[in-house]
Amino acid sequence: MSTALDDIAVTVERGQREVFCGLTGIVWLHRKMQDAFFLVVGSRTCAHLLQSAAGVMIFSEPRFATAIMQEKDLAGLSDANEELDRIVHRLLERRPDIATLFLVGSCPSEVIKLDLGRAAQRLSTAHQGRVRVLNYSGSGIETTFTEGEDACLEAMIKAAPYTDEKQLMIVGALPDIVEDQFDRLFDSTGIRAAALKVNYFPPRRAAHIPAIGPNTQFLLAQPFLNASRRALIEKSATHIPAMFPFGINGTRAWLYAAADALGVERSSVDHAIAAPIARAQKALEHYRPMLEGKRLWFMPDSQLELPLARFMHQECGMEILEVGVPYLDRKTMSEELKMVPETARVVEGQDVDKQLDRLRIEAPDLTVCGLGIANPLEGEGLSTKWSIELVFTPVHGFDQAGDLAELFARPLSRKQKLSV
Ligand code: SF4
Repeated sequence: MSTALDDIAVTVERGQREVFCGLTGIVWLHRKMQDAFFLVVGSRTCAHLLQSAAGVMIFSEPRFATAIMQEKDLAGLSDANEELDRIVHRLLERRPDIATLFLVGSCPSEVIKLDLGRAAQRLSTAHQGRVRVLNYSGSGIETTFTEGEDACLEAMIKAAPYTDEKQLMIVGALPDIVEDQFDRLFDSTGIRAAALKVNYFPPRRAAHIPAIGPNTQFLLAQPFLNASRRALIEKSATHIPAMFPFGINGTRAWLYAAADALGVERSSVDHAIAAPIARAQKALEHYRPMLEGKRLWFMPDSQLELPLARFMHQECGMEILEVGVPYLDRKTMSEELKMVPETARVVEGQDVDKQLDRLRIEAPDLTVCGLGIANPLEGEGLSTKWSIELVFTPVHGFDQAGDLAELFARPLSRKQKLSV
C-alpha cells in the first residue's frame, strides 16, 4: 500500500518485525538520571536482555533491576502486588540514594494485566516524602526500542508541576557533553536571553522535573518522542516544529526554529554558529571521500532513520536506497519529510522477509539495522551498522557531525581493508 504525503510516497508494510523492546532505553536513561532506579517487572528474558544490552555490570550498585515474575505469579496463584510491595520496600531500605523509582512494565506483566499505574500510586503514598514512584511500559508489544524513552518521558511529563513562567524546553535524553555544547550555543545566539530559561528534559536528576505550562515552548531533540510531544501539548506547552539537530543542516535549522519562535534574529544565530560550522565542515571533509556515492539502506529500527538519511545524503553525499521507519508520526517528522532524498523509498512498518529480499537484490554498500539482522547480513558479505549504536553514542550538534559520519565510514573502511 502506498500513501502520498505531500509529494512523498510512503509504502506501508505490515508483517513480522525484528526489533528490540523498550526496556533497552533503561541503558541510557539510568546513566542520564543519576537519582533514578528502574525496576522492571518482568521475566528472566527481560533480565537477560537488560544485562546484555547494558554490558556486564561489574559495579556494585547498578540502578536497574528486574523483579522476576514466577510461574505462580503468571498463573495468577499469588498476589503479585504484595510481592512487588515487598521488593520495593527492601530496595528502598537498602538504597537511600534512590529519589525516583520507575516501575517498568514488560510483556509478562501486561499479559497478566498487572496494573503498575495503581501500584505506583500505592507505593508513592506508602513512601511519601521518601521517593516518587512512576510507571511506564517497555514491553515488546510496542513497535520499537526507542519507545521506552518516549513512554518514560511521557510519565514524567504527566507528573510535572504547573508553571506559567516562560521557558524553552529541550526534550530528549542527551549526553551531558552535548547539553553543555547546546548551552553555549543558546548563550551565544541570544536564544537563552529571549527564552528567559532553558530546561532540558529529562533532567540530570529525576527528582527535579521542570514545571510545564502555557508559556513553555519546546523543541524535540530526538525524533521518537511522539507520546511525549502529545503529553506536553496536553499541558498547554507549544511545540516548535523543526528538523532534528544531526549534522550541520539539521543543527542550524533546529536553532533557527528556536530563534524564529522566540523572536531572535537569524543573523545573530549565523554569527554564533560560524565557528562551530567551520569545525564541523573540516571534520566532514575527512570522511566524505569514504562515503560519497556509496549506497545506503536503513532497516526500520531506532526511528532516527529519516534525519540520518537526510544528513548522510546532504552532507556526506551518500545515495539513499530505502529508509525504513518503524512508524511515521507526521507532526513530529513534518520538517524532515520535506528533506527526504529524491531517490529514497520510504517504507513505514516492516515485513522483514520481503524487505530482506529487496535488500539482497539491491545489495547496498551499507545497511543500518538491528543486531539480529546485522550478523546474517555480514555473513552474506554485506556491510552493516548497528542502529542501536547511533542512539548510545553522542551524535547531536555541530561538534559531533564528524563523529556521526565516522560511524558510517568505519564499516566501509574496515571492509576495504579486509578486501585489500
Ligand atoms: S519486555 Fe517482552 S520483549 Fe522485552 S525482554 Fe521482556 S519479554 Fe522480551
